Amino acid sequence: MNYLPFTKPTLDEATIQGVVEVLRSGWLATGPNVQALEKALSGYLGGRIVRTLTSATGGLEVALQVCGIGPGDEVITPAMSFAATPNVILRVGAKPVFVDVGTNSRNIDLNQVEAAITPRTKAIMPVHFAGLPVDMDALYDLAQRHKLRVIEDAAHAIGSAWQGKKIGSFGDIVSFSFHPNKNMTTIEGGALSFAEADEVKKFDLLRFQGISRDAEGNMDVSVAGGKYNLSDVAARVGVGQLPQLDGFNAKRRELVAHYFKCFATDPACLLPARGDEGHSWHMFAPLLPLDHLNISRKQFIEAMHQRGLGVGIHYPALHLFSLYRSQGYKEGDFPNAERIGRETVTLPLFPAMELADVERVCSAVKEIIETTKK
Ligand SMILES: *Cc1c(COP(=O)(O)O)cnc(C)c1O
Repeated sequence: MNYLPFTKPTLDEATIQGVVEVLRSGWLATGPNVQALEKALSGYLGGRIVRTLTSATGGLEVALQVCGIGPGDEVITPAMSFAATPNVILRVGAKPVFVDVGTNSRNIDLNQVEAAITPRTKAIMPVHFAGLPVDMDALYDLAQRHKLRVIEDAAHAIGSAWQGKKIGSFGDIVSFSFHPNKNMTTIEGGALSFAEADEVKKFDLLRFQGISRDAEGNMDVSVAGGKYNLSDVAARVGVGQLPQLDGFNAKRRELVAHYFKCFATDPACLLPARGDEGHSWHMFAPLLPLDHLNISRKQFIEAMHQRGLGVGIHYPALHLFSLYRSQGYKEGDFPNAERIGRETVTLPLFPAMELADVERVCSAVKEIIETTKK
């Protein structure tokens, strides 16, 4: 049987042809396709100011710099996410302060955020895990009461919505990723959505070498900016992807609805929280009932692999990595993040899948669990 990976980008022929045209055009670096993608993203996000860049990791890092966050500052972030989220906080010289996540939502537990706030706290960096929006009313209420910036890591959440409003169409600074595993891609790339035009000026300098030009075209360098501009080749991929995004996400929701149906009769796995129509379902990751099985997660993944099924792990708890242990974190600090880190498996989910693929995955999971029960 053919191999089913846990994720795969969908690129149509028109987009591929469009990229070939860019390659032939002679203009490969930042140019008209970057402008077109930023304009299209802005339109998609209700007219917000949007800037693309080479990665979401770069975007989060520059967003922190735009907010003036650095040494001596603290940023509150979930204890379970991709390493990029806390790493960028360290990279600007600030301190990531972890808060546990919900076992089902996998999102930062906003009820525990208040207790983590100190006089040094400057921002909250939540993650809309798997595209399930965090409670935006509670988040922004908290941020306003404590005068904190919010930098949303929306790497999983392009196309997600909170109570009908698109993530990135409101709020403070919102960061998207267009890595090939995400809901839409520019191969590598990302985008930031801004609320404040003044901050976009700062961002533009930091994105490209700190260079600005006056009315006569004279160049100045006013800050030590970096090099984060997207290529036109990559942007052309995004220009082809964005119009398909809502369709991709609708297909993800349909596939996930089928997963819930197939798993309904077998409560052995702990299924993730299910949002409304605004859940973009970046991935579908149940927790395995490992305490009741004779096999490890590694052996489960191997058994899936033998059946031609790809499985991912998103993610190990952040505070147990050596970098964060060296910051003073230890086992037991964030029990939910640790449990997810131990038990989570990301099952195949991408727009080109069929409902029959979902059934194939469910049967394999059930069979492996059934035959390895203690
Ligand atoms: C993918 C991802 C990032 C980083 O995105 P890149 O575009 O690869 O830099 C950051 N945070 C989360 C939660 C992610 O999944």
